[in-house]
Amino acid sequence: MKKHNFNAGPCVLPREAVESAIEAIRDFDGTGIGILEISHRTPGWERIMAETRQLWKDLLNIPDNYEVLFLGGGASTQFFMVPANLLKTKAAYLQTGVWAKKAAKEAKFYGDVEIVASSEDKNYTYIPKDYTIPTDADYFHITTNNTIYGTEIKEDIDCPIDLVADMSSDIMSRPVDVSKYALIYGGAQKNVGPAGVTFVIIRRDLLGKIERNLQTMVNYKTHAAEEARNISMFNTPPVFPIFVMHETLKWVKELGGVEAMNKINKEKAEILYAEIDRNSMFKGTAEKDSRSIMNVCFVMADEHKDKEAAFMEFAKERGMVGIKGHRSVGGFRASIYNACPLESVQALVKCMQDFEMANK
Ligand SMILES: *Cc1c(COP(=O)(O)O)cnc(C)c1O
Repeated sequence: MKKHNFNAGPCVLPREAVESAIEAIRDFDGTGIGILEISHRTPGWERIMAETRQLWKDLLNIPDNYEVLFLGGGASTQFFMVPANLLKTKAAYLQTGVWAKKAAKEAKFYGDVEIVASSEDKNYTYIPKDYTIPTDADYFHITTNNTIYGTEIKEDIDCPIDLVADMSSDIMSRPVDVSKYALIYGGAQKNVGPAGVTFVIIRRDLLGKIERNLQTMVNYKTHAAEEARNISMFNTPPVFPIFVMHETLKWVKELGGVEAMNKINKEKAEILYAEIDRNSMFKGTAEKDSRSIMNVCFVMADEHKDKEAAFMEFAKERGMVGIKGHRSVGGFRASIYNACPLESVQALVKCMQDFEMANK
C-alpha cells in the first residue's frame, strides 16, 4: 500500500533527492567512491558546498552582505549560539510555542531576556499581535512557524532592532525578504533535507560584533572565515546531509523556486483546512488567522471525542503515516512541507470524508 508521510521532522523528502542520494552513496560524482567515503577536501565536494550556498542565495535572494553557513548541532544549538554571539545586555523573545520558550531559556545564560508577548495562555493556538519591541534590546527573536501548534507568522515583520528568526519548519516554503533579518536559522530536517545539518544565514556585520570570549566552535566568525574554502569547513561538515540538501534545493529550483512552492503549499493547506472546517467529526486547534501552511493541527469535534483512536486506526489502514498530534496538543497533526505531494493531502481529505460517512 502506498504510504502518505505526514511526519513532522525528519519527514518526507523529494523522491528525486532520495534517488540521487542513493546513487551518490554508490558513486559520488563519477569518482568511483561513495559520498560517505570521500574526503571533504576533494574538489568535487568543495563544488557541492559552493553550489549549495549558491542555491540558498538564489532561491531566497540573499543579499551579498549575508553569509550562509551549514553547521551541526540542530536548531537547538542555535538557541545558545545566537545569544552567545549577539546578546550584550538584553534580548527580546516572542513566545509562540515550546521551541520559542526553549530558545529564550538558553538566552538567559548570557543576559536579560524580555518575553515581549506569549500565547501560552491559550496553549499557543495563536500568534500574539499587540506587542512592542523594546528598542534597547540587542535583538528580537521570533519562531516563524510553530511546528507543534500549527501556527505561523506568514509575513516578514517590521522590526526596529536586529531580527532573529528560527525558520526550521517553514524555510523555503515562501519568499522571504532576508534583508529584514539579522539572522535566520533552522534545522534542515523539516523542509530542506535530512537531519544532521543546520542552516544559518547571518548578516556579516554581526560576525564578532560583541566582545565575549567564545569557544572557537561557538563563534560564528570561525565558520564564516573570509577564505571561501573555509566557509562551514572549519571542521568536518555534515557531508551527506548537505549533499541531500543540495539535491532538495535543486528540486525546489526546478519546480520554480519559493514562489512556486508557496503557491502549491497554500493550495495543499487550503484543501486540508477546508475539510477540517467542513467535516462535522473534526475541528482545527489553531485560530484561523494564525494557521500554519506547514503543520495542520486538528482534533475530534467535542461530540466525537471518543473516536480519536478509531480515526487513527482508520487512517493507518489507508496508508497515513505520522499524523498523531504532539502530546501537548493531542489529536492529529499533518505536516505538509514542500516535499509532501498534493496527492497525499487529497488522500488524507478522502480518508476524513470516508470516516465521516462510516460514522454517521
Ligand atoms: C524541530 C524544531 C526545532 C528543533 O530542531 P533540532 O534540529 O532538533 O534542534 C527548533 N525549532 C523549530 C521551530 C522546530 O520545528
